[in-house]
Amino acid sequence: MKFCDPTARVFPRDWVSTYFRHNLSKTGKDHYECPICKTCFDHTQIDCLCGDHIWPYSLMGETSWDNYQLLCRTCNVRKKNFINNEVRKVLGDGSFRGMVFKYIKDSINIPYGISLDEYICFKHTTR
Ligand SMILES: [Zn+2]
Repeated sequence: MKFCDPTARVFPRDWVSTYFRHNLSKTGKDHYECPICKTCFDHTQIDCLCGDHIWPYSLMGETSWDNYQLLCRTCNVRKKNFINNEVRKVLGDGSFRGMVFKYIKDSINIPYGISLDEYICFKHTTR
């Protein structure tokens, strides 16, 4: 298995097939079951699966084998939206959210003239 930097944004592409094969030999089945929606995928449908951070990258989750699972594309997108919403709920709309936002904003040295969102996208794509 290819080594992966735990701070990398994405998992190595070939971990999909490695994880798929590992899971099949572990379960003795001829298909992989998406852990969320329980849809089954055989080896011809491997492109429908994507590597997912069990504990989200955006919440300090590591890009490591221990934090890796395969989800179907539909669940992957749903999970992202769900977690974004959950985090927003946790932060609330009161002073705590303001405090966290201010702390992050003040701690990151953002070049003048770009927003935090732009900065984060920029960091991810240029890494
Ligand atoms: Zn699914």
